[in-house]
Amino acid sequence: MKLIKFGQPGQEKPGVIIGDKRYDVSHLVRDYDENFFSGEAIENLKSEIHTHNLPEISAEERLGAPLARPSKIICVGLNYKDHAAETNAPIPQEPILFFKATSAIVGPNDDLIIPKTSTKTDWEVELAIVIGKKASYVSEENALDHVAGYVLHNDYSEREFQLERNGQWVKGKSCDTFAPIGPFIATPDEIEDVHNLRLWLKVNGQILQDGNTSNLIFNIPFVVSYISQFMTLLPGDVITTGTPAGVGLGQKPEPWYLKAGDVVELGIDGLGSSTQKVKAYEA
Ligand code: ZN
Repeated sequence: MKLIKFGQPGQEKPGVIIGDKRYDVSHLVRDYDENFFSGEAIENLKSEIHTHNLPEISAEERLGAPLARPSKIICVGLNYKDHAAETNAPIPQEPILFFKATSAIVGPNDDLIIPKTSTKTDWEVELAIVIGKKASYVSEENALDHVAGYVLHNDYSEREFQLERNGQWVKGKSCDTFAPIGPFIATPDEIEDVHNLRLWLKVNGQILQDGNTSNLIFNIPFVVSYISQFMTLLPGDVITTGTPAGVGLGQKPEPWYLKAGDVVELGIDGLGSSTQKVKAYEA
């Protein structure tokens, strides 16, 4: 099943994609929220969508992030060797974790707003995990029982705020519009092998990131189990699993960053693609 939300910002309704068409399921589901991801609701929807005559949604409708605002976005840093190398960082011995504010979430094709004083706004294509059943101290063996699905995410990052302004990375990760999520959440049955998915990103048509989830240092079950040793993962929480090489910070001979007018496109096998137009901050 592929879950979407559609409509104007703040008024999005739940929908699904079947084949190449989008359908409204707002009469069956209130929202893709903690309650939905925690229990039977997701399984019920799966069976119900085939027995109802669902209203079709126009392809022109805006897509929102395909879930209600989660309790947290947990990010894994430096989870691809080639990305650790391009940033001159050592390969982590255990996962590096940081948070991203949930207020950064926007729809997959919404504009990226360069923050007010930013000079180093950067891109990061990532595979994100959406948590299903609540996860606390889960084993690696049972970890996938706690995954509701997978989704495309661009972990936008302001490198000066992140690396030159002291303290935690969270400052460079949480600006408004820094978390375009979607187009859709794919339930695990839609994905043949989550550890063999190509992920790519282009700026103005030029391919800059071209990786594969087979190169993750810490894989999906490990990451879910690991994070659950430190905090409870609630249904609908998002874990974003790290980015491969090719970010602005890693460009040779000189790093370069986004400017107003740029267009960022990204995608992952089986999880669709998204496009963000880059805009300057306006008060
Ligand atoms: Zn990242």
